[in-house]
Formats: sequence, C-alpha cells, structure tokens
Amino acid sequence: MSEQRFDLHTHSTASDGSLTPTELVQRAAACGIEVLALTDHDQTAGLAEASGAARQAGIEFVPGIELSVSWSHQTVHIVGLGIDPSCAALQAGIKRITAFRHWRAEEIDRRLAKKGIHGALEGARAYAKGAILSRTHFAHYLVAQGHAKDLRQVFKRFLVRNKPGYVPGEWASLEETLGWIQEAGGLAVIAHPARYQISATRLRQLLGEFKELGGVGLEVVSGSHSRDDMMNMANLSRRFELAASAGSDYHGPENPYLDLGRLPTLPGECRPVWEHPAWSASHNLG
Ligand code: AMP
Ligand code: MN
Ligand code: MN
Ligand code: MN
Repeated sequence: MSEQRFDLHTHSTASDGSLTPTELVQRAAACGIEVLALTDHDQTAGLAEASGAARQAGIEFVPGIELSVSWSHQTVHIVGLGIDPSCAALQAGIKRITAFRHWRAEEIDRRLAKKGIHGALEGARAYAKGAILSRTHFAHYLVAQGHAKDLRQVFKRFLVRNKPGYVPGEWASLEETLGWIQEAGGLAVIAHPARYQISATRLRQLLGEFKELGGVGLEVVSGSHSRDDMMNMANLSRRFELAASAGSDYHGPENPYLDLGRLPTLPGECRPVWEHPAWSASHNLG
C-alpha cells in the first residue's frame, strides 16, 4: 500500500472542525480514505451521524474521541479509538470536561474584556453553534473582528500561555482518561506526540506512564509531524512497544496544506494499531 488509507484522527462541527460529520465522511471517502475515525475533542455527539454516513459512503468507521488531559503541568491529548459512546463512565468524564470548558470560556471572555475585547463569549458561541466550546471558536471570532490575520497569529497573540485570553486549568488525569477509554472498550493512543513542548526525557516519562496504565499506541504519522518527527516517534514506539497510529488531525478545508488522504504511510518497521489484537473487537460494535 503506497498511500495511507487510514485516518484515525479528525474533527467535525461536533467540536472545533468546520465540516459536519456527514461532510467529513464524504470528503474522506472522496479523498481515498478507507478507514476513518472521528475523534472530536471531549465529545461523542458526532459519532452516530458519521457512522451512518460512512455506511452510505462505503468506508469503514471507527468511533473515537480526543480527550484533553493534564499531565505534569502540561496539556496532553489522548485519542480513544473504537470507543462505545454509550459507556456511562466515559459520558460522566465528558460531562465533567464540558463543565470545565463552560467555566473556562466565561473566564476567557472576562480576561479578554479586561483588554478591551468585548463580546468574545457570544462571538465564540456563534461559531460553535451549540458544539462544545473550544479556543478555536474564540480564535475564529477574534480573526473576524480583525484582532489578528489568521488562526495561527490569533493563538500566538491571545490564546496561549502568558497571553491575555489564556486560562490555565486542570483537565482529567492520564489515569482517569485511560480508565474511561478502557471502560468504553477503546484503545488509547497519544495524539501528535511531537507537538508537546517537553524535553525528550519527559516525553519518555510520559510514554512509560502511559504504557504502564494500559495505553496502546502512539501517533507516529500525524498531520502536525515533520518527517524527522515521524522517524523519531517510530523509534520511540518500538522502544516502548506501543503500536503506531496515523491521523491527520483534520479540522476542515480552510487549512490548504493538510487535506484528507495525504498522510505518508507508516515507516516499515512500525506495528500498526489496526493490527493490534484488540483492534476489531474495539470498534465492530455494529
Ligand atoms: P482547546 O482544546 O479548547 O484548548 O483548543 C485547542 C485547539 O485549538 C486545538 O485542538 C487546535 O485545534 C487549536 N489550536 C491550538 N493551537 C493552535 C494554533 N497555534 N493555531 C491554530 N489552531 C490551534
Ligand atoms: Mn482542535
Ligand atoms: Mn490535539
Ligand atoms: Mn485533534
């Protein structure tokens, strides 16, 4: 297989993506994706629609989620693949994170207002259209209001640590998160591992703890990895005996550099997560 036919990390309008679950699935199918996971942030609301659309489009669907975790004063994202969205423990976790996101959104609004930017919460809500509130929705509003020229700039100026619209806070722990994913019958994968601003030593510590808690995989191929990142993560996945995953982290067509169906294949020596013994059991839920 010369092209990557798996995309196990994508977003829809159920979180901060710009395509509806149906539009996402249709675009993925048109781009040659054969196995697609929808992994919205801290949310499973798009899965039923995506699953139906995938059946229609004739591609395989993997119900997923990307959970926000606080690990050692750092936000880390853990993807759950093949989760059962009806799992009560998982939904209780989602409820807790959603409450935190509501509080955080109000706090972002208060902090921006102190800097003379008013109406940000209302603006972000208009972009979210009822979906779980994320910094991305604030970013869209701030760009539309002319506070920065694009999403990258707006994050840099307003929404990251030490900037006026940044709100520190605690997400769930790694242990709790892996517990929810496991109770929901899913496989836990560390998302975009090269993107965290941590030392190589701390990254190895994260992988060790993750593995110990029953974590299964590492995104070796990611839309936000360079070729060097990919090779580095391929080595780490072997060293920690973690399966390798591949996901674009697609958020919509407004990012022209990263369309669906454009990921490189996994380096040859990797053990793909879709060949993991628990893979089919985890997502063939009917
Ligand atoms: P949140 O989970 O609400 O804190 O928002 C995080 C989301 O913001 C990520 O999933 C990305 O989609 C987006 N994001 C974070 N940093 C950037 C950036 N520098 N440029 C564009 N989008 C970003
Ligand atoms: Mn996002
Ligand atoms: Mn992420
Ligand atoms: Mn993501």
